[in-house]
Amino acid sequence: MSERRINAALQEATDTRDVNIGAGALASVPDVFRENFGDGPIVVVADGNTFEVAGQRVHQELEDAGYTMVEPYVFPADPPLYAEYSNIEKLRDSLQEHDAIPVAVGSGTLNDIVKRSSHECDRPYMCVGTAASMDGYTAFGASIEKDGLKQTLSCPAPRAVVADLEVLQNAPENMTASGYADLLGKVTSGADWLVADALEVEKIDPTGWSLVQDHLRGWTDSPAELRAGDQQPTEDLVEGLIMSGLGMQSYESSRTASGAEHQFSHLWEMEGLGKDDRPRLSHGFKVGVGTVAIAALYELLLQRDLSDLDIGSLQDSWPSREEMEQSVREQHTDPDLEEGAVEQTLAKYVSAEELAERLELLQKVWPELREKVREQLLPAGEIKQMLKAAGCPTAPEEIGLGWDEFERTYRRAQTIRKRYTALDLAFETGLLEECVEELFAPGGFWGRVAASAQAEGGR
Ligand SMILES: [Zn+2]
Repeated sequence: MSERRINAALQEATDTRDVNIGAGALASVPDVFRENFGDGPIVVVADGNTFEVAGQRVHQELEDAGYTMVEPYVFPADPPLYAEYSNIEKLRDSLQEHDAIPVAVGSGTLNDIVKRSSHECDRPYMCVGTAASMDGYTAFGASIEKDGLKQTLSCPAPRAVVADLEVLQNAPENMTASGYADLLGKVTSGADWLVADALEVEKIDPTGWSLVQDHLRGWTDSPAELRAGDQQPTEDLVEGLIMSGLGMQSYESSRTASGAEHQFSHLWEMEGLGKDDRPRLSHGFKVGVGTVAIAALYELLLQRDLSDLDIGSLQDSWPSREEMEQSVREQHTDPDLEEGAVEQTLAKYVSAEELAERLELLQKVWPELREKVREQLLPAGEIKQMLKAAGCPTAPEEIGLGWDEFERTYRRAQTIRKRYTALDLAFETGLLEECVEELFAPGGFWGRVAASAQAEGGR
């Protein structure tokens, strides 16, 4: 089943030609390599952990198959590898000493480093995934910290990907849980795209949509079994993550897989949340908490009748461009982040007249949009339960974030990216403040979570 879907998806991909997922798939590496790259030479790139888990074996399999092998490039296991530009420079300088094709053996960070370093050497590369921890394997671009800012540096996705289920099943539990949260986040990111589409901000691309959304429920419906290490849910998860990456590759944007829940995660990441934790707070864990947060916001928006807005008064109170810039600056203290947020917010700024036009359109499409979004979403409480069953954090204090800071994220995350999401819908309809207040009030969604956390802490 999964092979057929992935092969169909590969028809839409621009960089990746071959994906092989299966129990024992490591043994296929020499054949997959020959089919996609020819004869080599080859250099295995890993870190201390992934070299032990699979890198050594991949190197051996390739050597036994007769390839010329360059000495493996192995990053230290400790401190954990960080996706910062200096690591790309190190690897790139080493790659320039020979002409071997890199085979990355590892997960998110390692793959991103090899992706960009290979590109800087004008070389294609292959990836052997060691954990179902995020959807970046088959995505275009690498998420790297450069000049103090987390950014997506452009570079092609791997030409071929191999994922051995036996290796993935034995990956650390929190890595699999992280991948699950990253995938479940497509529930809210899909809702955001429905909204952007209906408001004629960004049209839905049917291919990019269906690669990520068509099987999302099936890929995510067994979180407890996944946590227990069963093979089928692991296979479903990795299929979903690979398909999600191929969706981004085909649409050439992360819109297919990333909405407001990722804006929460990106903001926290840029502010260094959990960077010094051991293990480091993962991308997926931040996305998971963001997904619950956005699903809860949607619940309140969907309760309201947005075809009954007072457009005149919303238009009158709409900030000017200068006022908007001022308010963004007030919400950020880090200078790099402040400049980035101003740029992104002004890129999506509309005038009061344009706002009124958009809100008139919203009035017209709301009944149909409301139904579509309801169908796309799951209740926030259910998402929370699913994440919990998979072993993911679901509330701010579990990721080391204070409640006040978490509450402020609803307003601040809206400013850091020009992508149109639920946060913009709430902001432009004048409902963001009141919805956030409602969520954190004593009987509100987060108010109840905070109260029960306090009761548990007091026991
Ligand atoms: Zn993600």
